[in-house]
Amino acid sequence: MNMLSDISLAPITQPTVGSAADLEHLGDQIAELAARLDAAGARLLDLIREFDARGGWNTGFVSCAAWLTWRVGLDRGAARERVRVARALGTLPLLAQALARGELSYSKVRALTRVATPETEERLLRVGTAGTAEHVERIVRGWRRVDRQAEARETARRHASRALHVYQDEDGMVVIRGRLDSGVGAVFAQALAAARETLYQRARATHADAGPADVSEETPTMSQQHADALALIAETALHHGMDPGTPDERYQVVVHVDAVILADADAPGQSVLEDGTHVPAETSRRLACDASRVVMRHDADGRVTEVGARTRTIPPAPRRALQHRDRGCRFPGCDVRFGHGHHIRHWAHRGPTTLSNLALLCRRHHRAVHEEGYGVERQPDGELRFRRPDGRILPESPPPAAVPADPVEALRAQHDAQHLRIHARTAMPGWLGERLDVGWAIDVLHPLAARAAGHCCLAASVSA
Ligand SMILES: [Zn+2]
Ligand SMILES: [Zn+2]
Repeated sequence: MNMLSDISLAPITQPTVGSAADLEHLGDQIAELAARLDAAGARLLDLIREFDARGGWNTGFVSCAAWLTWRVGLDRGAARERVRVARALGTLPLLAQALARGELSYSKVRALTRVATPETEERLLRVGTAGTAEHVERIVRGWRRVDRQAEARETARRHASRALHVYQDEDGMVVIRGRLDSGVGAVFAQALAAARETLYQRARATHADAGPADVSEETPTMSQQHADALALIAETALHHGMDPGTPDERYQVVVHVDAVILADADAPGQSVLEDGTHVPAETSRRLACDASRVVMRHDADGRVTEVGARTRTIPPAPRRALQHRDRGCRFPGCDVRFGHGHHIRHWAHRGPTTLSNLALLCRRHHRAVHEEGYGVERQPDGELRFRRPDGRILPESPPPAAVPADPVEALRAQHDAQHLRIHARTAMPGWLGERLDVGWAIDVLHPLAARAAGHCCLAASVSA
């Protein structure tokens, strides 16, 4: 360990009335400790990256950031940022090493990782070590503007290339070839799949009626089925006067479930989506927890004989009271503001729709308690208690971590062991005080800036 570090890490004595040398010494202590904390922070990011990649947080938490908030006490924004930076540094070794040596502050690394790629990392590292944190911020902002312009041009180019060609082939068949935006493509694929499923079910029903004579008829190939499905889509569109309907009509999911299934998962009975897809009993219980309910009675042949009025399993008034009391998902560490009303004891088991039997859970955690084995119970004092699938209690907040009596000394010993030489000037920028010309810097540094537009794109975007 060199002299500078030895002196600067000596315990701070009572601040003496201000000689300049004392204050400089104090400043050096701040600079050195900040560099050491950044170096230790690099290690923290390594650990977070590994924990994230190996899914260590996937124990009821929606994300690694949510776990960090719960376990470490970071606020949600800071936690998300740590995870983002940790992931980014996995592919940016130069920036990662500079942080680990205490040469580049976390603030600078955070800014640089918003734009750095393996190709531009080396140039941006030079920006980081030469400039102050404010310079780095400004360069990164300018850099992103160039990136966004390049991305916007690319998006516009892709969108302009959308096309659908329909033409007649020599033999009279119609040929269709096209390029669709990904969103339109997804809707199209969904419609095609739904139409194919409908046709296939109709065909199955007809076959069953027609008896064995038709069995020899060949099943159409997938591409033939798609061609038939497209015909159904076109006919349906014309029939409905091109009305796409409201979003909830388009994405509505209807589940038919026998009452007996809701009360006992092992009971024989049916629980199916409208298109015939089977739904696990726990899933139908989750969907039924907070839903519209229509009771239908069937006769022995399965024909519906009576349809009751549509009611909500949780009527509007208790629903509002529940939202007011719980304010958001009650699962430990979750801060999603809206959710489903979960019946702690399911209504199909005669659980009452009262506030004491309800808990607000977000979609993710409602799934956790129904389908993933997590438990929730209300204790006599009214507090909720959650359990992991193995029965262990999931506390509202975790026990605090053990910290050495003198954390700075421990950090210094650790850095010595790693042969890291960190002192008051480790993270000093090379800047000599000259004015920063961001536009010029971006033009020189950004791989797309000069190429994309010969004239200064930065000036153009500022005036726009
Ligand atoms: Zn539920
Ligand atoms: Zn939740």
